[in-house]
Amino acid sequence: MGRTFRVYLAGEMVFACKKCGNHLAVSESVISKSFNGQHGRAVLIHHAVNVTLGEPEDRLMRTGNHTVRDIYCRVCNTIIGWKYDKAYEHQEKYKEGKYILERELIDEIPEPTHASDKPHIEEIITSVLPVLNNA
Ligand SMILES: [Zn+2]
Repeated sequence: MGRTFRVYLAGEMVFACKKCGNHLAVSESVISKSFNGQHGRAVLIHHAVNVTLGEPEDRLMRTGNHTVRDIYCRVCNTIIGWKYDKAYEHQEKYKEGKYILERELIDEIPEPTHASDKPHIEEIITSVLPVLNNA
């Protein structure tokens, strides 16, 4: 549809797409910084915003088989990591529903939190369609 939302984040640090600066996550969302991605170091986070998800596919990783989806920056469409849909190994279950961001593809930018600088959602109307009423 013609309406998209972009979330602007505020936190101690904000992870942003290296290519276009799109905000993706806050440092408070980090679960672990000791992950490895396809391009080197990666971070495991609770939630990412302003991303689109690819189709689920099974990938065999060092820690066993996982169903994952690539995640794309919603602004510039660069693949910036993946999301774990399902982990087959019991000890890897904590990763389900979590996101991986590749350090190589993101920037960590300081974002001082001020009272006037709360996270907000900005609505971007890309096209205005006439509202059809079925009454
Ligand atoms: Zn981007």
